[in-house]
Amino acid sequence: MEDLKELITKLAADNALKHGKASSKAVLGKLLAIRPDLRPKARELISLVEEVVAEVNEMPVESLRNISPQVKSGKKERKRTWPSLEGAEEGKVVTRVAPEPNGYPTLGHAKGLLVPFIYARLYKGKFLLRFEDTNPRVEKLEYYDAIRDEFLKLLEAAENELGLSPGKWDEEIIESYHLPEMYELAKKLIEQGDAYVCTCPAHVVREKRKLGEPCEHREQSVEENLELWDKMLSGEFGEGEAHLRLKTDMKHPNVTLRDPGIFRIIEAPHPIHGDKFRVYPVYDFSVSVMDSLSGVTHAFRSKEFEPHVDVQLEILRKLKLRKYRMIQFGRITVEGIPLSKRYIRPLVESGILEGWDDPRIPTLRGLFRRGILPEAIVRFFYELGPSKVDATVNMGMITAINRKILDPKVHRYMFVPDPIRASIDELATPAEAKVQVHPNSKELRRILVREPKVYISQSDIRDLKVGDEVRLRGLVTVKVRSVNPDEVSLTRSKDQKIKGVRIIQWAPLEGGVPARILVPLTPYSYEMLGGYGEPALKDLKTGDMVQLIRLGFARVDKRKPFTLILSHK
Ligand SMILES: [Zn+2]
Repeated sequence: MEDLKELITKLAADNALKHGKASSKAVLGKLLAIRPDLRPKARELISLVEEVVAEVNEMPVESLRNISPQVKSGKKERKRTWPSLEGAEEGKVVTRVAPEPNGYPTLGHAKGLLVPFIYARLYKGKFLLRFEDTNPRVEKLEYYDAIRDEFLKLLEAAENELGLSPGKWDEEIIESYHLPEMYELAKKLIEQGDAYVCTCPAHVVREKRKLGEPCEHREQSVEENLELWDKMLSGEFGEGEAHLRLKTDMKHPNVTLRDPGIFRIIEAPHPIHGDKFRVYPVYDFSVSVMDSLSGVTHAFRSKEFEPHVDVQLEILRKLKLRKYRMIQFGRITVEGIPLSKRYIRPLVESGILEGWDDPRIPTLRGLFRRGILPEAIVRFFYELGPSKVDATVNMGMITAINRKILDPKVHRYMFVPDPIRASIDELATPAEAKVQVHPNSKELRRILVREPKVYISQSDIRDLKVGDEVRLRGLVTVKVRSVNPDEVSLTRSKDQKIKGVRIIQWAPLEGGVPARILVPLTPYSYEMLGGYGEPALKDLKTGDMVQLIRLGFARVDKRKPFTLILSHK
């Protein structure tokens, strides 16, 4: 018995630290959750719990902390639990995230953002955001802004959740502004005899690289190459007619290293520079040069680029540029939900999805619109760690974290899906119902019932028989008198304190707010629940989060028609 009291005291202290005051109901719930063996004795435990909670609510905060030492006050200062970064020195680490502005970021990009950010902050270093915008055909201005907005939301959340400050990048670099410098470096390579302009058609280049045979252009003089390079820049060659290749070894065992192309012509307007440039570096060139020039010490990239590491090192060696550490990390896939733009784009273009922010897809904006908090995404990736292996994650892992963050703070509301009218005999009106805004709070919301008519859900009526009793949350306990297809007749129960009756949600006929709840199922489908909510729903704003009693957590998506998106149970 003493042990039990100790356990209850600890739970009450936890609860009080979290919410200011402990609630007997919450403490009892928690107790029965961790000690299911006590469930048959729940009723006898109530008085003990109430007694302990009353004691705990009189205690000063300091004593509560002694009882419940794992709950600390103030901002959470996280200890560094991530594996240390090889060769990293405090204050000298520079990392970056380098997105290409060719689409809206997805959950997969969140790892590429958070891993280098977290390391930069853990080592009190610098974190860069660099737009790799040197493939204009697929890039658009709107994507730069989307990336900035959504990355910032995650980094601010990382500051709040993990205490990694400042929750922002230290510098933004737009790679395309550095094209003139890259042209200079290309010229330097030509002058050193380390690069040549090849005008072979692509299929010939591919074949010869496979066979390890040089083409005639490999023997051109520096002067010839410089002249051809100028022609590439000035527009005398069309797309695909010429490219600059690095001179390495046409018989190298790594085929990627056999005279790889480093600059090519792309005849598409650039989202920032329009037609100003027509020659663009390939990824291997721009990434290695930009990382080196911008001071990056540790560059994180996903594993698929591994065969290219040798090419990048060769470029740095020939240009005598500073080397840095290249660190591979595993990619993220979401079980059952494709993340690739190739999959999502046709669904957006065909109108099956409403756009890139559709809550059925795991783009960051889709997740936010669904009510997945940036904090939940940050916590998830922090706990996952910087793993080098590819991982398949389940949305349930993220929604579980989201629920943990939302549950203690969002208010509860009643919503009645598939409603049927119910009249209540012997209920004196106007009546006032009182519902708790949150199980851990004493705050009550009042609902005015002007006439004895309410909506209740058909699904609650389905398994009720005439004579059954049920409680309308916060209003009245009723007995079923008759059930007709369009109306249910109820009467106020004699015994209002009767135990063990089911509690159901309801909405007043007058003042009930018509609303629809969208339940995302797959990228193709929603389930839609229509019905009425309690009057207070109309005070919510777009973006507010609520818990709909017995349905789940939801985010207000728009007010006309009043629409919520179900985040998760
Ligand atoms: Zn050639």
